[in-house]
Amino acid sequence: MSKSHEIADRLSRSENVIAFTGAGISTESGIPDFRSPGGIWANSQPVLFQDFLASADSRHEYWRQKSVSHSDFKNSKANAGHQVLARWEDAGRLQAVITQNIDGLHQDAGSNKVLELHGTAREIMCFGCDARYGAGEMTEKFLADDQVPTCPACGGLLKHATVSFGQQLPDDVLEEAIQLTSNADHYFAMGSSLVVEPAASLPRLAKQNGANLVIINRDETPQDDLADWVIHASIGDTLKAIDKYLAAK
Ligand SMILES: [Zn+2]
Repeated sequence: MSKSHEIADRLSRSENVIAFTGAGISTESGIPDFRSPGGIWANSQPVLFQDFLASADSRHEYWRQKSVSHSDFKNSKANAGHQVLARWEDAGRLQAVITQNIDGLHQDAGSNKVLELHGTAREIMCFGCDARYGAGEMTEKFLADDQVPTCPACGGLLKHATVSFGQQLPDDVLEEAIQLTSNADHYFAMGSSLVVEPAASLPRLAKQNGANLVIINRDETPQDDLADWVIHASIGDTLKAIDKYLAAK
């Protein structure tokens, strides 16, 4: 039996299935991993949250970087990996997706229950009045007049609804992610190097609480020894193969 076949077999007998996803699922949609060569942080330093608040120059650099990644996001589409997960949720086979990604591609594919640990780049939020705006309209404004936009309602500072370096993860989202992870009986960790917190501890937590752990990632991870199955291959291809066996059941 192939690994995909074995995983499908186990999956069909699981009740609490959770998928944790990182940048690797989105690189298959053509979104560069920020940290990889060619990614935005290969050539520029990310703007720390404290600097964003303190300095107009930092805010300008922040918006410049974000307008670059915005065009990557705008031109990308959900891929086979996102689509299989959305289908599994529809069919009642998957409870939730917990993601480190900010690109919204899980929702594009049709996933409803998505916990975004790092927020979303689809929205802009105002620090003054909590208003939310579409990222597209504000990015276009920035590119048109090369000025950092301010809130049309109150003149407050505008930033993407993402977690910046130096900013805390949202407590409520993290708590729910921990809860879902603890209750899982089958856990996929995909497209993450599983080095940075909380990615480093969530799969371990699932395993400690009795879940079967499947790691799918292009490269090795420090958690590979912990997993019941490890696959170093494309997420989209692997999930399609598992899905094919599931459908045949
Ligand atoms: Zn405002």
